Amino acid sequence: MREFVYHRPLSLAEAERLFAASAEGRYLSGGMTLIPTMKQGLATPVDLVDLGRLPELKMLLVEDGYLVVGAATTHTEVQTSPIVADAIPALADLAGQIGDPHVRHRGTIGGSIANNDPAADYPAAVLALGATIETSRRTLPAEEFFQGMFSTALEEGEIVTRIRFPIPERAAYRKFSNPASRYAMAGVFVAMLGDGEVRVAVTGAGQDGVFRASEMEDALSAELNPAEIEAIVVDPATMLSDLHGSAAYRANLVKVMAKRAVADLLA
Ligand SMILES: Cc1cc2nc3c(=O)[nH]c(=O)nc-3n(C[C@H](O)[C@H](O)[C@H](O)COP(=O)(O)OP(=O)(O)OC[C@H]3O[C@@H](n4cnc5c(N)ncnc54)[C@H](O)[C@@H]3O)c2cc1C
Repeated sequence: MREFVYHRPLSLAEAERLFAASAEGRYLSGGMTLIPTMKQGLATPVDLVDLGRLPELKMLLVEDGYLVVGAATTHTEVQTSPIVADAIPALADLAGQIGDPHVRHRGTIGGSIANNDPAADYPAAVLALGATIETSRRTLPAEEFFQGMFSTALEEGEIVTRIRFPIPERAAYRKFSNPASRYAMAGVFVAMLGDGEVRVAVTGAGQDGVFRASEMEDALSAELNPAEIEAIVVDPATMLSDLHGSAAYRANLVKVMAKRAVADLLA
């Protein structure tokens, strides 16, 4: 690990200033992805700007039909918050399925979506619920924010500040975890919104990271029943294939997880 200067700003503006002044700056949130990357020498920041103390990133509230979650909120805080449990219990359930207790206590929702790992859990909820991502500069719909594997619309130095989730009628998340890392081999978030629209987002399985399963959405919007998924073909050609599972295996997992999520949603 190379030497770096650690900064702990107390405001969003100061964090952006520190980043802009650095030849090679990186924001640090929970460090659950960044620190291992630095240890391996894959990231060599000169300045590390810690976002953990910024009041602008610390919030968890319900406002005008939205659950608003600050970027610095840890997975454990989402998992155990009575506000989340009341507004979107499926989101609390999802947070509780991330990694292990150590990862959940340090890792944050902002770090997770900024990193946009193709097997991360939160992107499925953000996309299925049609959440908006607020940053230090603008507001982006989930569809624009996620741009493929490890890729987002964030510009150099831009900070995710909060995620604004519309509160759905009902929602459920099911994932098949990699038994070693707990990352999703396939995770499916199904949300029924207030107007009856059903949205489905899949993580862990797609070659381009998180995606919406539009055929499933149409079928489930017509009739919300796990049986509606049976006839849908998930094309293995669009699925990831690696040492953990083939594309055909993942395509099957997507259907199985989707059916389980719909069954949970109806329970
Ligand atoms: C063993 C292990 C198991 C895991 N299992 C899972 C799992 O099952 N499911 C899952 O979803 N994830 C899993 N993770 C990842 C975990 O959820 C991380 O916490 C998360 O991906 C990164 O969040 P972080 O807060 O730790 O971010 P960091 O590691 O601090 O940062 C990650 C990246 O995001 C940037 N960043 C951080 N915050 C912001 C922000 N607010 N604005 C802009 N950029 C920002 C950083 O500069 C960095 O590039 C696992 C990690 C480990 C180590």
